[in-house]
Amino acid sequence: MLTIEGLTAHYGAAQALFGIDLTVPAGQTVALVGANGAGKTTLLRCVMGLLRPSGGTVRLDGADVTGSAPAAMVRRGLALSPEGREVFGRLSVAENLALGALPLKLGAKELDLRRAEVFARFPRLAERREQLAGTLSGGEQQMLAMGRALMARPRLLLLDEPSLGLAPLITDEIFAIIHQLGRSGVTILLVEQNAARALAASDAAFLLANGRVVEHGASARLLTDPKLRAAFLGAASHDSPAASRLGAAGLTNLRLEKPDMAQQNFMPPFATVEALHAHQLKGLQWTVRHAWEGSPFYRQRLEAAGIAPETITSLADLRRLPFTTADDLRDGYPFPLRAVPFEQIVRIHASSGTTGKRKVLCYTQKDLDDWTHFFARCYQMAGVTPLDRVQVAVGYGVWTAGMGFQLGAEKLGALAVPVGPGNVDMQLEFLRDFQSTVFCSTASMALLMAEEIHRRGIADQIAVRKVIYGSERSSRSMRRKISELFGGAELFDITGLTELYGPGTGIECADHDCIHYWGDYYLLEIIDPETLQPLPDGEWGEMVVTTLCKEGAPLIRYRTRDITRIIPGRCSCGSLLPRHSRIRGRSDDTIKFRGVNIYPSSIDTILSAVPGLGSEYQIHLTRDDASGRDQMRLVIERGEGVEARRTPELVHEAGHQIKKQLLVSAEIALVDYGSLPRSERKSRRVFDTRIEDEIV
Ligand code: ZN
Repeated sequence: MLTIEGLTAHYGAAQALFGIDLTVPAGQTVALVGANGAGKTTLLRCVMGLLRPSGGTVRLDGADVTGSAPAAMVRRGLALSPEGREVFGRLSVAENLALGALPLKLGAKELDLRRAEVFARFPRLAERREQLAGTLSGGEQQMLAMGRALMARPRLLLLDEPSLGLAPLITDEIFAIIHQLGRSGVTILLVEQNAARALAASDAAFLLANGRVVEHGASARLLTDPKLRAAFLGAASHDSPAASRLGAAGLTNLRLEKPDMAQQNFMPPFATVEALHAHQLKGLQWTVRHAWEGSPFYRQRLEAAGIAPETITSLADLRRLPFTTADDLRDGYPFPLRAVPFEQIVRIHASSGTTGKRKVLCYTQKDLDDWTHFFARCYQMAGVTPLDRVQVAVGYGVWTAGMGFQLGAEKLGALAVPVGPGNVDMQLEFLRDFQSTVFCSTASMALLMAEEIHRRGIADQIAVRKVIYGSERSSRSMRRKISELFGGAELFDITGLTELYGPGTGIECADHDCIHYWGDYYLLEIIDPETLQPLPDGEWGEMVVTTLCKEGAPLIRYRTRDITRIIPGRCSCGSLLPRHSRIRGRSDDTIKFRGVNIYPSSIDTILSAVPGLGSEYQIHLTRDDASGRDQMRLVIERGEGVEARRTPELVHEAGHQIKKQLLVSAEIALVDYGSLPRSERKSRRVFDTRIEDEIV
């Protein structure tokens, strides 16, 4: 219908268009996309006859209409809805509409008929027909501008920036109308600042830059062309003025679809373990110097240990550094370990403070960026993609948890559903209505949800395919139960602690036999919690961490109290990243029972292996006043559907296994499935009412 050939245009001496070739086939919607100043509006003005081209031709249905006056163009079936609406504020809606048909010199009857057509399309304008246009909202003025153009019953409608300055909801409405117009056979040439919208709403598109067509083709192809996206997104992501102009013109919206996971990688770039070690040494040297220079606490500690930053020359020097503990953090309240001025601190987080003062940690923007980056890596390792919907059911606020899960999900490009902890009914409602595919919570909460889904019989309405849980030990049988009740969801244990950024400092890989930790962000050592001596790889002990690039509150040999072991060698999943076993407990919550140190996790392991037992249990430790002997009583749920008559057999087997593997005797009591309390946070399992020796 419209054919433009070699069109050039000048504003005085300045050339605005350089030989534009463009066609608009009848019945199609064609978009013109480009930055401010690219020449889009100039082109429309040339077509409409508002600006005389300096060269080239404009043909309408084959007839040369180059340089025709606007009124003549209207009579030939063109109409323009201009940028900025240009409605007449002192005239009513009805009067503004009449102006659109002015060049056609219609009779009153025909005018009324056409107005009725426009009102049918824009019911909101009908309601406001006598209202002055100046009192309409931006969206209504846009409707009026479009309605006025439609009064001429154009065959080709030129729409200049219809969504400019409109709220997203109104933009949706405007685009719905454009869509309807297109379907009703109106040919549309659409100039739109929002490139994503324009491409999505059109059949074909022309990309303009500096007065030239730089790309054109089917919109669907342009939408998904990675080269195109890279060109525009790349430009918009740099700090150059040209880029910000692209951004201002909405071209950042060329992020049209979720990023392709194949083009995103949050894994470290190291090809060899040696390269990782070289990176770690640099990080260690930086951290010691940074702490020494920035933190009075660390300066004093390091000096007392006889350490000067320049004496750190190998990773083995790590062992010479003094430990940092939770007590150091509490003693330094409110801003312990701070190593940068407050001007650089953008956020604090704090631990829940169940014991003593809270542990408060300072973050610089870089710290937050690093955390976000490696949290996205967690999702990547768990196989979460930008198409996933991640329901975050852990704590928000001063705690690090929710924030980390959310930032990482958004960084990845996934859809985050930030619910926070608890609120089972709302969680279920969102799982069902939003079709969340990833559920993040504590293990206890995941079990609680899984059981609730099962109880309500809504498993077939839930789309969860991955459960990412952390901050709590979980037994094998608990994992099995969660996975099963979530319809076979894959489980990923995620690690982390507030002192070390927050959650997300490591995660189980798809091979499910270890936790990969981010050795490019921190060093991990395992020490004997009693002697404080480093333990060889493979031995269980306390995890000690040293950060490599943390600015706000660096950690030097921080004792986490978490019990784990380093797994030597390369993982079967192929990742180069180092790994440790699942956290087995905390060095300060081992149970001392009749001279034996017992990790609660070993009881998990033993009970999980007895078929017929449920995943929930409690350990009650009491002391017999008369004999002074400690007693252990295990209260265990029978598995779901396991008959009560099997109780004696199960009691015997559980007692036998405990005795055999832990070398201690325990009284076993079985209770019905579901009778032990479920918690949305961490389930309490150990009830120790013995008088501690030290207190006597
Ligand atoms: Zn692995």
